[in-house]
Amino acid sequence: MRIVLLGAPGSGKGTQAQRLVERFGLPQISTGDLLRSAVARGTAYGLQAKAAMDAGRLVSDDVVLGIIHDRLAETDTMRGYVLDGFPRNLVQARALAAMLRQIGKPLDAVVLIEVPYSVIVKRIAGRRSCPKCAAVYNIHDAAPGATLRCRNGADHPPLIQRPDDNEATVSKRLEVYEKSTRPLVDHYAGQGLLRRIDGDAPTDVVTQRLVGALLQPAPGRGKVQKAKPKAKAKTKAKTKAKTKVKSKAKVKTKAKPKKKPATKSRAKPKKKAKVSVKSQRTKKKAASRASSGRKDATGRGRRARR
Ligand code: AMP
Repeated sequence: MRIVLLGAPGSGKGTQAQRLVERFGLPQISTGDLLRSAVARGTAYGLQAKAAMDAGRLVSDDVVLGIIHDRLAETDTMRGYVLDGFPRNLVQARALAAMLRQIGKPLDAVVLIEVPYSVIVKRIAGRRSCPKCAAVYNIHDAAPGATLRCRNGADHPPLIQRPDDNEATVSKRLEVYEKSTRPLVDHYAGQGLLRRIDGDAPTDVVTQRLVGALLQPAPGRGKVQKAKPKAKAKTKAKTKAKTKVKSKAKVKTKAKPKKKPATKSRAKPKKKAKVSVKSQRTKKKAASRASSGRKDATGRGRRARR
């Protein structure tokens, strides 16, 4: 299964991706984790990424796509994976689609985790992570007075708060999400891949919703098909001149085919009626000429015409 988790920072993508790792045995691929690791190791990618990450901006597509390309080439991705925090804009989404097309393994599902911003801000303020394994916890989930520790091993160091989880950077990251990442919702809805879940609930409940959404059949492409005619209607309303020309043209083209069949269908019986009256008169005249021996308009008598 190849899955993308979409959602604002703090919507629970990382936590839910870990749940999918446990449940389906798929690797979690978090570009945020990969970038933080690159920064910590001081690699070329890490050096390029650091300034953008500290400011809450997106790291350049070149760097992120390079990292993703290398990661998807690893053997543990053969059975599938959970992408967490990638793609984050349309350029990345298209580049991912091209990479997957090349190997003939397209995405199976994209799940949008929806959480109100007021909840997100509180969650991010309480978020802590393990510097060793990147597991994510929240101080609001701990018993009052208890010290939160990483549950993945007694040797794991104390949890830390991410440097970009401060108030100023969070508001910048939410702004970036709205502008660059939210357009992916329509993008994936248009491809029939998008499923939405309400992420404002306890972690276990959200996991149930997520698994339920993944096991459901694909929702189809209905939303974007509805959106297209709306957009056309707006454009027509804005351009009055075009509308007039179009409406005139429509009247002409519509009127012609309507009139033609009507005229034809009426004309036929009328003509037939006239012809039959004439032919009846002609027959009567011919009969009376024949009986009286008069010549017709050609000047020929009955015998001459034979
Ligand atoms: P995250 O852990 O997903 O919240 O990501 C932390 C930071 O890493 C983001 O604020 C970005 O600066 C950077 N980052 C993570 N993923 C991407 C991506 N797909 N594209 C660009 N920047 C990213």
